Amino acid sequence: MTKPLIFELGSPGRTAAGLPEPDVPVTKPEELLPFGMRRERQAELPEVSEVDLVRHYTRLSSLNYGVDTGFYPLGSCTMKYNPKVNEAAASLPGFTGLHPYQPEELSQGALKLMYRLERYLGEIAGMDRFTLQPAAGAHGELTGLLIIRAYHVQNGETQRNKVLVPDSAHGTNPATAAMCGYETVQVKSNSRGGVDLDDLWRLAGADTAAIMLTNPNTLGIFDENIKQITDIVHEAGGLAYCDGANTNAIMGKVRPGDMGFDVVHLNLHKTFATPHGGGGPGSGPVGVKDFLTPFLPRPLVECRVDEEAGKTYYLDHRGGQSIGRVKAFYGNFGVMVKAYAYIRMLGAAGLTEASEHAVLNANYLKEKLRETYVLPYDRTCMHEFVLSPLKSGERKVRTLDLAKRLMDYGYHPPTIYFPLIVEEALMIEPTETESKETLDGFAAALRQIAREALEQPETVTGAPHRTPVKRLDEVTAARKPVLRYQRQS
Ligand SMILES: *Cc1c(COP(=O)(O)O)cnc(C)c1O
Repeated sequence: MTKPLIFELGSPGRTAAGLPEPDVPVTKPEELLPFGMRRERQAELPEVSEVDLVRHYTRLSSLNYGVDTGFYPLGSCTMKYNPKVNEAAASLPGFTGLHPYQPEELSQGALKLMYRLERYLGEIAGMDRFTLQPAAGAHGELTGLLIIRAYHVQNGETQRNKVLVPDSAHGTNPATAAMCGYETVQVKSNSRGGVDLDDLWRLAGADTAAIMLTNPNTLGIFDENIKQITDIVHEAGGLAYCDGANTNAIMGKVRPGDMGFDVVHLNLHKTFATPHGGGGPGSGPVGVKDFLTPFLPRPLVECRVDEEAGKTYYLDHRGGQSIGRVKAFYGNFGVMVKAYAYIRMLGAAGLTEASEHAVLNANYLKEKLRETYVLPYDRTCMHEFVLSPLKSGERKVRTLDLAKRLMDYGYHPPTIYFPLIVEEALMIEPTETESKETLDGFAAALRQIAREALEQPETVTGAPHRTPVKRLDEVTAARKPVLRYQRQS
């Protein structure tokens, strides 16, 4: 980027606005300020024309990469396109103008939406009740484990101090267990990418509080022994927690509740159409089977039916065994509106079709890439799949280099080095919203990069070459970020 930044563009006296001389007495702005707060010298601001100003900000706005600008196959993140109509729904003045302290009779629409959303999520996940409070997936995990802990405490089973977590788990799972004061016990995976049942048999016991499992797991594989797994944990007296952050492969197909899970969290900002990745608000509702409902955070939204008044929705604060609130007010309401609109727009058949397309797209891409890249778990995948390095064994080029080089081809790189059980992992989740042409283009780029890795490895190891910022020292970039313009002297 040789284009001068706006700070170098200015010329003294140039301005973006022309105002007539005032015809009323004016006080100079600097005279309004108390003496001690006044500048000692002029601010160093560029003096530029309106068009320079507009071009500056328009250029900045296009430096960011997002789902709305290109393919974003970041595994385990479900970076699918989010229909704009959901944003329109969440922006309706009746929703945005609501105050959380507004009386129930003046917020019936919002309460009805929450009530219905809870039931839809219950239907999709096979759970009896949901709390909509948690603000994200990891927050949902914390809520879910606190519920499980409260259950064991109520039963006097305080010796249950271990949480079983498979070695393919998302990093938030062991972190959550530790946050709740549990010891994490790692369960091995078998050669087919599922939980090793022998290992689970050995580990489950009187000290097991729960297993935390995601199915399909982070390899994109559906565990064929799922019912046995939850049975083993139940027989040991533990509960089964499903990390349902990525439900994109199974909506309308199978339900965590039917697999034997007692608790699940869903990420509305992955599966249910809220843009994410930029740190914006999320939502990680937690669903439970009936016997755990008493422990859910309060209030819950309930519905009263009266012959004359019809249906009235209200907040029920009762619940002596509740773990308490986990979020101010009722959760991130705007995200709930988007999820509600998305679910209503697609309907049951549409959600099922979305899952089918997510799985089809992932398998299509997997088949296109298996000639070039190693496929460590060679099975039909669900919404994502994991590749290992090049078949050629060209070890000069690492997965990090492949990912960087993809940026030169205009793609957001997939997730890399996760799950940890795959060496040099490249984890790809294409999502259902991408066309065959996009998938073909991405596969062609990855094949081309494999050729480059053999013929001109420096091109790959030195990538990216075409991005505004070249390869960064990632540790320094994270620890000592340079976040503002610095004048070159
Ligand atoms: C994204 C994700 C999480 C964490 O969700 P956040 O909303 O980022 O806290 C947990 N588990 C899995 C499997 C995920 O993909």
